[in-house]
Amino acid sequence: MKRLSPLLLALCLFTSCQLLQKAPTTDTTDTSDHQDHGKEGPCGSQPCSEPGAGELIDLYESDMEDDLMIEKSFKIVAHIVQNPSTPSDLDKATVVAAINELNRNFAGAHISFDLQSNVSNTSSIHYLSAIRSDQQFEKTITDPLDVDNTINLYLVQTNSLLAGYTPVLAEDFKDYVNLDLNRIFISHKAIKQPATVAHEFGHFFNLQHTFGNSPLEASTTERLDGSNCQQAGDFICDTPPDPNGQQDCCDCSYLGTTQPTNVEFNPLTNNFMSYYKYCCRTAFTPGQLRAVKMAALEYRGYLN
Ligand SMILES: [Zn+2]
Repeated sequence: MKRLSPLLLALCLFTSCQLLQKAPTTDTTDTSDHQDHGKEGPCGSQPCSEPGAGELIDLYESDMEDDLMIEKSFKIVAHIVQNPSTPSDLDKATVVAAINELNRNFAGAHISFDLQSNVSNTSSIHYLSAIRSDQQFEKTITDPLDVDNTINLYLVQTNSLLAGYTPVLAEDFKDYVNLDLNRIFISHKAIKQPATVAHEFGHFFNLQHTFGNSPLEASTTERLDGSNCQQAGDFICDTPPDPNGQQDCCDCSYLGTTQPTNVEFNPLTNNFMSYYKYCCRTAFTPGQLRAVKMAALEYRGYLN
């Protein structure tokens, strides 16, 4: 079993502080073949704050049904960041393939992504975890490259479990229109993993993790009977309570939690927004796709 490394612990503490300060928060996902759960995992998610949860609950309960079928397209510009001491073989064709798969995964939300032809190449000695933990490093890379009105997808090498992060607000989501916060960071390895790409873009459109605001096993406050599904977990009712538990190594089935619980969970181990193995995660639920579209229209409509 892996232990939290000092670096990851530092990242956890850093991002916790970010959340308290209402600064943009970040998310990490592990794309290694083995599972990382609970306190033995990486930093994991940065959830929305309590006021932010209220905003999302209100949004998801609002009546936008007539707008959900509207086709919405977002431009993406990709920036390949190479570490000159350990360059990878990532090329434009790989990015094109990833965005094609992303389009398939968001089609149910009537959202498409238009990858711009000019993929930039730049170099940095900083790996993904260093950029995530130091906003000055991030700014140094992104300031000369960021394209307005566009999702800027930064592809950076990683030297840790960190596979990607999306700088997001914890609350006041309508402020996105006034902020320069249209970035997603994914590692060179993870861009080849459709689940991680879908996961990070899910966060870009405000999706929360299926297990709620803590990756600790069985810590979800969502009830099995669905009676609080609009207020707990990810605030979406067709994603059942997720204990972020154990999973069969081969067939992706759910095995239970390390410690016995009184609850017989039945999570969706195939859900993009869970922490189950990336190769098992293949889908959003209809409720998540609806939530993505609502957030896209309400909070990211300024991107066109
Ligand atoms: Zn995440």
